[in-house]
Amino acid sequence: MDPVYETETFNRKQLHAILDNTVDAIVVINSRGLILSFNRACEKLFGYKPAEALGQNVMLLMPEPFRSQHDQYLVNYLTSRAPKIIGIGREVIGCRKDGSTFPMWLSIGEVIEGTDHFFVGILRDITEQKTHEEELTRYTKALEKSNTELDEFVYIISHDLKEPVRGMYSFAQFLDEDYAEILDEEGRHRISTLMKMAKRMDSLIEKLLYFSRLERTELSMATVDLQESLNEVIDLLEPYIEQTKAKIIVETPLPDYYCDQARVGEIFRNLITNGIKYNKTDSPEIHIGVRPSETGSGAPPVFFVRDNGIGIPEKHFHSVFKMFKRLHGRDDFGGGTGSGLTITQRIVQQHGGRIWIESESGQGTTFLFTLSKGREQS
Ligand code: ADP
Repeated sequence: MDPVYETETFNRKQLHAILDNTVDAIVVINSRGLILSFNRACEKLFGYKPAEALGQNVMLLMPEPFRSQHDQYLVNYLTSRAPKIIGIGREVIGCRKDGSTFPMWLSIGEVIEGTDHFFVGILRDITEQKTHEEELTRYTKALEKSNTELDEFVYIISHDLKEPVRGMYSFAQFLDEDYAEILDEEGRHRISTLMKMAKRMDSLIEKLLYFSRLERTELSMATVDLQESLNEVIDLLEPYIEQTKAKIIVETPLPDYYCDQARVGEIFRNLITNGIKYNKTDSPEIHIGVRPSETGSGAPPVFFVRDNGIGIPEKHFHSVFKMFKRLHGRDDFGGGTGSGLTITQRIVQQHGGRIWIESESGQGTTFLFTLSKGREQS
């Protein structure tokens, strides 16, 4: 027995009322393509009165070349039964009474009653959606282009600036070596300042170049024994650790993780060095570990590097990640270019993760970071 979709009191009048109040345009045609039903939304969409559309071939509602081909489409379908649109739905072009065209989404259902075939088309104007999509594509392309240009610009600028800066340094050095006896104290001081400034500019350019290279090269992803990587980083920092009497405490051994080994090593190196550097205690302590994700939560593990240093005021939690941003005088705390955290954050972001700070002034700082968006990893 056929399923029952309406009660006996549901009549033809009510069905018409529904058709006429449906937001989408609905057209019913027979197997010869003649329009049998044309609801109010259709009237609004195409500009034809029902009296003008009923009994006409549905090709009326489409532009050339589809208009001339539509009868053939129908014949092809009725003979081959191979659906190109029926039961699938796709984007097509509609033609209004005034000849203007517009994109629409068309889905067609087939109704077979004995030997009769009907096709019910549901149509939706997607002009606005298409405009948005096109705008978005244009915007994304423009953004990609400007990003690439910016990358190239940074690379070219920093690359081309290196040479003159190094030249300046060398010439200042010649002056210092060959004319030191002719110059008075003030002159020698100026030359030494010139050399210092050229050196600083050189290291700023070097960082900028490194940052732009970071953008230009793909990550080299593999499953990495992070504990072993961390041990290597600590080994390389050994002289600095000894000299500063720092202690490195690994609270929880690090897991194997899918990431770029060299770049993640750089994250740890930057954070450990900073923890020791921005520290006034006699014995800097750096705690490293991982907070495992809750089982089944899908959240990525959170790695941390905690120090007992000078702390970072909350108002600087974001700004310390900016290029060349330092919270201290140029030469305080052993000096620096203010790029380590920018590079660290970029590497974290390249892995799809994020980095943030927990700190209270004078109570040390904890840097926390993830290395993926969140699916479980080996
Ligand atoms: P740099 O160390 O070369 O200045 P960074 O980008 O690594 O550059 O750090 C930016 C600034 O953030 C530092 O100059 C310092 O003021 C602050 N900072 C970074 N790490 C710490 C830390 N562990 N404790 C306190 N301040 C820090």
